[in-house]
Amino acid sequence: MTMPAAAPRPALFLDRDGVVNVNHGYVHRAEDTAFVPGIFELCRSAQALGCALVIITNQAGIARGHYSAAQYHAYSGWLRGAMAAQGVLLDGIYHCPHHPEFGVGPCRRDCTCRKPAPGMILQAARDLDLDLARSALLGDSVSDSEAGRRAGVGLLMLLSAGAAARPTPAADVQTVRDLDAARRTLQRWCAR
Ligand SMILES: [Zn+2]
Repeated sequence: MTMPAAAPRPALFLDRDGVVNVNHGYVHRAEDTAFVPGIFELCRSAQALGCALVIITNQAGIARGHYSAAQYHAYSGWLRGAMAAQGVLLDGIYHCPHHPEFGVGPCRRDCTCRKPAPGMILQAARDLDLDLARSALLGDSVSDSEAGRRAGVGLLMLLSAGAAARPTPAADVQTVRDLDAARRTLQRWCAR
């Protein structure tokens, strides 16, 4: 006798640089990391709402050779630990190490994972059994919200503070001032 499969869960997808950590440019060391105010509260709130937590990050720094894949993975391990110490358990971290123009060697390619392509989100949905229509995404760039749209994510949020949030987001994107506003928007949306 087989157990019935659990129903797919919703997720909160987070861009990393500019949403989880302050974007100083190509962050890959613990000592360069400052967390964006409100990120732990947002993540704990999402967990309480039953959402998986998934980071999706374009890592052109790997493509360009600014740091190695090994350094990136070591940093991701540190990030998981630092967030766990705040009661935030990440279900997945997905990255794209490619760049179509500036990538070095095998990292130079037109891939299906670099946002605005939806590849990382679709992979996470398969790996973690996620219900994308009931999921939310928070980014700071239109390439984030576009990736979410192409994947069928139900709630698309963009930080208005992100200088990268140009051009003007599409009408179905909710602009939020900060992570506290994102937390309240997520709560309202999950309760609807
Ligand atoms: Zn890629």
